[in-house]
Amino acid sequence: MKKTILTGLRPTGNLHLGHYFGAGQNYVRLQDDYDFYLEIADVQALTDNFDNPEKVRKNVFEITKDLLAIGLDPNKVHFFIQSQIPEIAELTVFYSNLVTVARLQRNPTVKTEISQKKELFGNNGESITYGFLGYPVSQAADITAFDGEVVPVGDDQLPLLEQCREIVRKFNSIYGNVLKEPQQVLSKTTRVKGLDGNEKMGKSLGNAIYLVDDDETIRTKVMGAVTDPSKIKKDDPANPDVCMVYYYHKLVNNEENINKICSECKQGSRGCVQCKKELIEAMKSFLEPIQERRKFYEDNPEEVKKVLEEGTKAAREKAMAKMCEIKKAMKIDY
Ligand code: ATP
Ligand code: MG
Repeated sequence: MKKTILTGLRPTGNLHLGHYFGAGQNYVRLQDDYDFYLEIADVQALTDNFDNPEKVRKNVFEITKDLLAIGLDPNKVHFFIQSQIPEIAELTVFYSNLVTVARLQRNPTVKTEISQKKELFGNNGESITYGFLGYPVSQAADITAFDGEVVPVGDDQLPLLEQCREIVRKFNSIYGNVLKEPQQVLSKTTRVKGLDGNEKMGKSLGNAIYLVDDDETIRTKVMGAVTDPSKIKKDDPANPDVCMVYYYHKLVNNEENINKICSECKQGSRGCVQCKKELIEAMKSFLEPIQERRKFYEDNPEEVKKVLEEGTKAAREKAMAKMCEIKKAMKIDY
């Protein structure tokens, strides 16, 4: 029998290259070998977007189209909407007894995110909501409701998985051996840098190339990408390792071109404008098949709805069966 994978993405915007190389590419690779449940985590998205339900609803469909566009096959992957699986919410309540508030406050991922969301949660996290602080608990519910054994993650997600394992161990020690401890599969690329040279490409950092970006947008973004600041004139030799244009060539171009670009840049026989123009073309070729597949789903929104309906139905059945086991163990199976 195939092992179960559970992973999810928050529907708060379209997918960018960071999501693709840090997560999506890994999903595509794994879809043949696992029973794959892919959660569109709308409830989790609401924890920091509770005042913007339209945004979350719209992005449920946007992100599903993006995920289909990168080559996830709905015959292999169950796409489901988190809010439509009440067992996850129920489990979150049960697990909330098994984790301390102090432990959640110490979770490195939660800590970083709280400090990034000052507008919402205050300068020192003094306005943190119960819901946001508890999202790792709901993530443990997501994973264990499906007996998720394998979870593909970026390195920023590892503390969340560790939190899940702690909850699993605690649950099993009290109620019996019912839950599985999930293992991570890390992506080959753990962190994609932003156009501005920032260590992370991120939606809220405004430094991302999105899979849906059209030619003109790509052109503008690539032309503005950060290059080696020590290179002033076209024929100055430069260091490709500090250049974002070379960095993206390495992601989307072929090996022969990458080697050529690297040596020409070091020798000073390649200007940045030329290099950027070539990157625009390489980026467009990379995105073309993705955007072509996406267009099918844009033209056929009923297909997207069908994928979500069928996936959610399969996920609900699986979660309901697991819930029976859990309630029995907790002696609340009246
Ligand atoms: P935000 O800026 O709102 O936090 P984001 O662009 O960081 O948004 P998330 O929804 O937080 O996107 O990302 C979901 C997951 O996708 C991350 O946990 C990570 O595993 C992966 N991911 C996001 N950005 C990158 C990146 N630049 N490089 C590698 N992986 C990434
Ligand atoms: Mg993020």
